[in-house]
Amino acid sequence: MSSFKQKIVVVGGGITGLTAAYTIQKKSRHEKLDLDITLVESSHRLGGKIQTAQKEGFVIEKGPDSFLERKESMARLIKEVGLADRLVPNSTGQSFILMNDKLHPMPGGAIMGIPTQIKPFMTTDLVSMTGKLRAGADFVLPRSKERGDQSLGGFFRRRLGNEVVENLIEPLLSGIYAGDIDQLSLMSTFPQFHKMEQDHRSLISGIKKTNPSAAQPKKQLGPTRKKSLFLTLTSGLQSLIDTLEEHLDQTSILKGVKVESIEENAQGPHRYSLKMNSGETLEADSIIFSVPHFVASSIFQKQHILTEFKDVPATSVATVAMAFPQEAVTGVPDGTGFVVSRNSDYTITACTWTHNKWPHTTPEGKVLLRCYVGRSGDEAVVDLADDQIEEIVLNDLNNIMGVSAKPDFTIVTRWKKAMPQYTVGHKQRLAKVRAELESNFPGVYLAGGSYDGIGLPDCIDQGESAAAKAIIHLMKGHKS
Ligand SMILES: Cc1cc2nc3c(=O)[nH]c(=O)nc-3n(C[C@H](O)[C@H](O)[C@H](O)COP(=O)(O)OP(=O)(O)OC[C@H]3O[C@@H](n4cnc5c(N)ncnc54)[C@H](O)[C@@H]3O)c2cc1C
Repeated sequence: MSSFKQKIVVVGGGITGLTAAYTIQKKSRHEKLDLDITLVESSHRLGGKIQTAQKEGFVIEKGPDSFLERKESMARLIKEVGLADRLVPNSTGQSFILMNDKLHPMPGGAIMGIPTQIKPFMTTDLVSMTGKLRAGADFVLPRSKERGDQSLGGFFRRRLGNEVVENLIEPLLSGIYAGDIDQLSLMSTFPQFHKMEQDHRSLISGIKKTNPSAAQPKKQLGPTRKKSLFLTLTSGLQSLIDTLEEHLDQTSILKGVKVESIEENAQGPHRYSLKMNSGETLEADSIIFSVPHFVASSIFQKQHILTEFKDVPATSVATVAMAFPQEAVTGVPDGTGFVVSRNSDYTITACTWTHNKWPHTTPEGKVLLRCYVGRSGDEAVVDLADDQIEEIVLNDLNNIMGVSAKPDFTIVTRWKKAMPQYTVGHKQRLAKVRAELESNFPGVYLAGGSYDGIGLPDCIDQGESAAAKAIIHLMKGHKS
């Protein structure tokens, strides 16, 4: 039976959808709106990619492990729901790049792999003298005349040369997007670098002028005074999900139910009908889709819109957390972890020495290593059995750091098609899709990791913004 109360449905119970539902409920209460709010999640748990395991005193993040502090929305939300006392910054330390079978310290002052200080760059073994001289061309090369989008790889190769890109920049960026930097969009990932080139011509000079820490040589900063950049929760990021769920006391939460398609509702008072795999339909006046782009595209298949998203790739990765007794792992250098250059013959793409970077996660006398496997063009490993993945990772760790002991336990978590690739033209595609939605499906919004930023704070911003738009739409009484 349908009621005339305005209905709003959030599809997808990851951090974006939960934030959207929480924001709608909060505004609805504050402004005394009479809304019927529903959150639909296809799996039997909320949180999407956020998932924490607690085992034998360890706090193990299976997906994201932290978030950038400078993007403020996540810490704000955490404080608002009462978890401020659990916020913890990362411990800082040396990070490394694995190249030619050797761990090389990340040169001091490198920002996203871009060198900004002469001495550490000139003394690193990561780049040959020819490569270093080529990077220096950045000081004299003209600005790009490119007005549209371009690939991240193309942009950095032009400014700094192939060697710096392959041995410094690519391993770091690939750690964030698990992607191919020659396909990724500059304007959708790091538009600030495009702006720097336009404003300062030289990328290195631009970074030095706009980032005060880059201007200081490492000696002055001192390793112990390096500023932490990330925050997490001592109880695990899952505790934010659980707390948000507890706050959603005026939202109907449907778990284990998948939205399959959308129809315009010609008869009833509510504008849209969502068809679910349970056979039921859900009516709505406004909908926020916080699902991956390929899911959104399949929901609108019948309407032939969002088709641009069908071919946008999403990479599969797996995280492999391994717990050891301290005495079994003596070769781990002092530091926070390493990323692996594509020129190296290893399967792991990165490894965090979690016990060092996040000491609260690991009991005294233990070591926690968290490795990644899978990246664009190299994803088959994700489909192997757990014990096969464990063996491959252990073999890599043995070759890199002499870790020959068997772990006390290993947790392998597969993330299939989990890293959306913002390929060149992403912004234009998104604008086109949003325009299609606005004219054909007013009151329907897209938000989340596939769209305007993959970082957790970006997802929170998107959830809040979509919630605000949906409420404005409902208040305007957009009903046919
Ligand atoms: C391994 C890994 C590590 C990461 N590390 C970090 C990190 O350290 N820091 C950081 O900031 N970011 C990190 N990210 C990125 C970040 O985790 C994601 O961008 C973010 O969690 C996406 O949230 P979301 O709510 O948009 O999507 P999701 O978390 O994917 O949520 C979407 C939800 O929709 C549900 N769903 C799908 N289809 C349907 C349907 N048809 N009907 C109903 N529900 C449906 C899914 O089950 C899921 O719960 C990482 C990502 C991965 C995969």
